[in-house]
Amino acid sequence: MRIVMKFGGTSVGDGLKIRNVAALAKRYYDQDNEVIVVASAMTGVTDKLFEMAQVASNTCSAKEIETHFAALSDRHEKAIVDAIHDAAVRDEVRAEIQQRLSELKNALVGVCYLGELTNRSLAYIYSFGERMCVPILSGSLRDLGMKSKHFSGGEAGVITDSRYESARLDPVTDVRVKESLMPLLKAGFIPVVTGFVAADKKGVITVLGRGGSDYSASIIGAAVDADEIWIYTDVNGIMTTDPRLVPQARTLPVVTYLEAMEMSYFGAKVLHPKTIEPAVKKGIPVKVLNTFQPEHPGTVVLMKDATSCRSPIKAVTMIKNIGLINISGAGLSGTPGIAGRIFSALGREDINIIMISQASSEFNVSLAVDGAQVDRALAALKAEFNGEIARDLTCNNNVCVVAVVGAGMAGNPGIAGRVFTALGREKVNIRMISQGSSEANISFVVNKEDASRAVKVLHDEFELHKL
Ligand code: ADP
Ligand code: ASP
Ligand code: MG
Repeated sequence: MRIVMKFGGTSVGDGLKIRNVAALAKRYYDQDNEVIVVASAMTGVTDKLFEMAQVASNTCSAKEIETHFAALSDRHEKAIVDAIHDAAVRDEVRAEIQQRLSELKNALVGVCYLGELTNRSLAYIYSFGERMCVPILSGSLRDLGMKSKHFSGGEAGVITDSRYESARLDPVTDVRVKESLMPLLKAGFIPVVTGFVAADKKGVITVLGRGGSDYSASIIGAAVDADEIWIYTDVNGIMTTDPRLVPQARTLPVVTYLEAMEMSYFGAKVLHPKTIEPAVKKGIPVKVLNTFQPEHPGTVVLMKDATSCRSPIKAVTMIKNIGLINISGAGLSGTPGIAGRIFSALGREDINIIMISQASSEFNVSLAVDGAQVDRALAALKAEFNGEIARDLTCNNNVCVVAVVGAGMAGNPGIAGRVFTALGREKVNIRMISQGSSEANISFVVNKEDASRAVKVLHDEFELHKL
């Protein structure tokens, strides 16, 4: 079999974990499989790089940057020692990490001098997390006697447009990835590629959006016609809800592509929302597995669920940081084209509308957008309507989106009734409701303080702990 194995930050948190991951990849290689490894940065490193970039552009405090820098350097040095035993391999990897660290320092100094952090600089700074992790993982594989080479996403052929921070895939990727990785597979190598990191056509580093290394694995899997894509993380697959929120959450043995897309779109962090797209195109099964319990069968994501799961709802999800924008006023009533103008104004600013609802009186349009994009969204709407409806433009940042997901809801009446009756009983106030025509989700907006309770209530109501 040809397998793409992706290891998230939680799986490569330190040198011992990196060695464990290398041993896992070797184990499947030894069972006569072709293996490509895709890896994220070590846990928390991407967040730290963001902080460092912020410090550089805001205060440029040399002391603060130096403290972060020393911690980052120590952490990678310790990982090298724990993941790699052979002195020569260690030295080789160490030299490369030193080189990366000095490039990172130069980038931070540059941001300090300029006093501004562009998306392009931020993507470049982000990329160091993954680019400092893959040499260690690949070194660990060589230490275990494997033939291995590591690549940044761009070097492996993952090519995007120039939206540096949340770049979109260029179709040339399929051919490029095939050209760069297939000969290595044929020669018995285990290629190790950075997740998250890619490059535009000019070779400038880009990234695929936070959490994007799942997407990288799927892009690469589709390009090399993998038999399966395995996403390794720190839980036993895709669960009925986030186990951090509801400890009774259960693993779902099978989830359809549509359900996985809906779940990730509505906040299940276990998969990046775009992960399923390349896999669906080629009909490649995606497995979600636990690095720390590799024998657990986890979840398989497929076109159809042929198991006997009779529950119409499989999962409850939550997105925390949401802004609810309300546009209302008499001017909206019976005026064609308002919705079009709203979409266009937000589209031009690259703002993702998570939910939309319009009351039949046409006096009110509500939009849920990512909390980080609220200010830009409001500015774009104000500019578009130039005072026409500005006085009726309000925003609430104190809300979350909760969704119930399951393909079994389609054509099954009474589910929405059960959802909202259960919430009503528990006095959870609903601010906005939406259901996609796929009927695989019902999503709604609630106040922040009610959100976890809403998830628990629905998990209980549909007895998901018994699935
Ligand atoms: P990685 O570093 O492996 O990419 P992430 O932190 O991005 O890991 O994603 C794994 C986490 O996703 C889990 O630890 C879990 O808390 C969270 N999560 C949220 N919703 C779900 C869900 N429905 N099923 C499983 N995990 C979930
Ligand atoms: N390291 C990146 C992030 O933290 C990508 C990922 O984890 O998938 O966003
Ligand atoms: Mg992740």
